[in-house]
This record gives sequence, C-alpha cells and structure tokens, in this order.
Amino acid sequence: MRIDILTLFPEMCESVLRESIIGRARERGLAEIYCRNIRDYSADKHRRVDDAPYGGGAGMVMTAQPIFDCFNSLCRDLGKKPRLIYLSPQGKTLTQQRAKELAQFDNVALLCGHYEGVDERVLSEIVDEEISIGDYVLTGGELPALVVTDCLVRLLPGVLAGEEAVENESHYFSLLEHPHYTRPDVWRGKEVPEVLISGHHANIEAWRRQQSLYRTFMRRPDLLEIADLQPEDLELLASFRQKDE
Ligand code: SAM
Repeated sequence: MRIDILTLFPEMCESVLRESIIGRARERGLAEIYCRNIRDYSADKHRRVDDAPYGGGAGMVMTAQPIFDCFNSLCRDLGKKPRLIYLSPQGKTLTQQRAKELAQFDNVALLCGHYEGVDERVLSEIVDEEISIGDYVLTGGELPALVVTDCLVRLLPGVLAGEEAVENESHYFSLLEHPHYTRPDVWRGKEVPEVLISGHHANIEAWRRQQSLYRTFMRRPDLLEIADLQPEDLELLASFRQKDE
C-alpha cells in the first residue's frame, strides 16, 4: 500500500513516520509513505497558500490552486487517481471497520487542512471522502492524517508479528480486548491472575474471552449490539446482567 500525505508541514509528519513500527514497516518496504508539500505547488510569487475568507470573519482559508495542482502532480506520478481523503472535523468518524476497508486500497492520499479550512470548491472537485478522528477541533489535519496512517499501516500483512495480534485487539471484532500482564508475578502486592501462569491454554483463552466480554459490557455496552457473539458469550453476558441487577 502507498499513502501520500498532502500537507503544509511535511517535516511534522516525517518526524513521526520514521519512528517505531511505522518507520520499520517503511524500511522493510511493507508500506510506502510520502509527504508532499502543498506550498511547493503555489503559483503565487510569494508561495502563498491561504487567503482571507469571502464574507469576512476570522482566520485564513487554504486556497484551491496549490491543493489542486499538488493532487494532480501526485496523480501524474502514480499514473492513476488515489482515493483522496480530506481530514476534517465534519467528516465521518474513523472506525476500525472503515480502517479495515481503507487498508484494501493500493493508493490512499490524505489531505491536511489548516487555519479555518480549505476552499470548498477544491474539496468538491477532488475529494472522495472526509474523515474525522473525533468530535473536537485541532489546528491542522496533520495529526489526524498520522492517526489514519498508523491505523491503516498496522493492518498491512507483515507489519505486526502475527495476524492474531491485530484480530485480538479492541474494536477489530467490536469487542474491547482483555487486560494484559507481564513480569513480575507480584508487583506492589498485586498478583497476576493465576490462570495466566497455569500454562493451560484452553483455560487462558476462556478467561480472556470472559474478560473481553466483561470489559465491553461495563465500558462500551453499545458495542455488544454489533459484535458477532457466540451462544456461550450470550450466556456469560446474561450472568453479568444478573449480577448487575
Ligand atoms: N473551521 C473548521 C470547522 O469548524 O469545521 C475547522 C478547521 S480546523 C481549525 C483546521 C484543519 O484541521 C481542518 O481543515 C482539518 O484538516 C483539521 N482537523 C481539525 N480537527 C479535526 C478532526 N477532529 N478530525 C480531522 N481533521 C481535523
């Protein structure tokens, strides 16, 4: 998969993208990620990329021309049009389900807004969808673009150690994950649940499933409406509800 981030602050993105798991995935050629500076495409003699809003009001608006030319140059380089996502607090909130679907695309481009936002005309001309990372407003689309990139890249084959690493995690199957413990066995008087050091794999799996269901029941009962539950899960949930009454 290739992801192109269209931004006014490529260095801000690069500083994150060269680190840790995403950095290693790039080095190993499992994901291609590039940042394109929208300012490089400004036709203005002072390389301006924003202007005052028509109708007055606070802040500046990113102009259409540099974004349009930046995107067209990317399309030319790729020889095709990538799926273009504009990061926006007005978009659909990112979910694990949408991330799974987007990770199937060969080419995704992420457009980062700044200031008051982007001239609406270029958005309606080139953008395929808008994604929000939550109901709050940030100063720019760079952090949201990095969130989307991280979320997609970790789903790509080979990026994480085992496929079950991804599938067991919260939200993959609309449940929260079970709690984790590591050495030492006792820390500040608190012991690791005995089953986890029993070596009995079936019991460990059963305990984890029960914990996962219990957490979801307590913290995010809304997820249980869409989770794929087995008859034994439903029995467990019924017992949690009984205890709760
Ligand atoms: N005036 C815009 C509004 O009220 O909808 C907000 C603009 S915001 C200050 C600047 C840029 O940050 C946006 O163009 C967008 O790219 C990005 N942004 C801010 N919050 C975001 C969020 N929750 N999700 C995704 N992108 C966001």
